[in-house]
Amino acid sequence: MAELASAPRPGDPRPGAEDPGPEGPALEGTVHRSGILIVEDEAELVRALRINLRARQYEVLTAGTGQEALAVAARHPPDAIILDLGLPDIDGTEVIVELRRWYRAPIIVLSGRTSPGDKIGALDVGADDYVTKPFAMAELLARLRAVLRRDEGESGPGQRREAVIGRWRVDLTAHQVGRAATEEEAAEEEAGETLRLTPTEWRILEILLQRPGQLVGSAQLLTSVWGPGFQQRTNYLRFHMARLRRKLEDNPARPRHLLTEPGMGYRYQP
Ligand code: CA
Repeated sequence: MAELASAPRPGDPRPGAEDPGPEGPALEGTVHRSGILIVEDEAELVRALRINLRARQYEVLTAGTGQEALAVAARHPPDAIILDLGLPDIDGTEVIVELRRWYRAPIIVLSGRTSPGDKIGALDVGADDYVTKPFAMAELLARLRAVLRRDEGESGPGQRREAVIGRWRVDLTAHQVGRAATEEEAAEEEAGETLRLTPTEWRILEILLQRPGQLVGSAQLLTSVWGPGFQQRTNYLRFHMARLRRKLEDNPARPRHLLTEPGMGYRYQP
């Protein structure tokens, strides 16, 4: 007979204490409550964001103008910032520039502007991702989780810097690419196969793979890999991304992991 919801005995773990899952409730005292700063002048949207973020155990700070955002962020540095580009006083892009003089944690831009130029501008000055209004709350929350995970990964100890692209396991620490063999495949000889990447290919992968699911602007990639002054050389990226796809993607013509966002940049999709 199946055991029905019996009363917990002393010493039993609290229900749900072992695996709250990615959407599970944060347990007081055991999970860091991330503080999120919402910079937005539309009261309705601020309200909706505040309700949704609080329901998921985030601490919420708000600012209705760019100046207020800079002041609040300086007083209580948040774990991430959700920032509207169209603010009543200073442009959101300016706010990002000011923040990035000292602020390292993720910034997600929120905007009704849909031209690639605005997105590129925001990413180039240091935004981590971009969500276009109107947006689905679930998408924004997923992107927020992604940037926070990435940020914790970069600063957390004992981080395994590994990623899987199709059949390949990329070890960013050892700079090795080997087969991501399943147990059956491990018996086959091809499981031991390795792949050689050039130093430039490693630098590009390094940046993309540490931001799973996130868009990385072309200019940001070019500056990080080749240095200032190379922001217009998108042909470099096309060349090296094509080579990386030929090496790593199962079907380089239809890449599933190393994606191009036309006119904007690249994204590693796990
Ligand atoms: Ca606005």
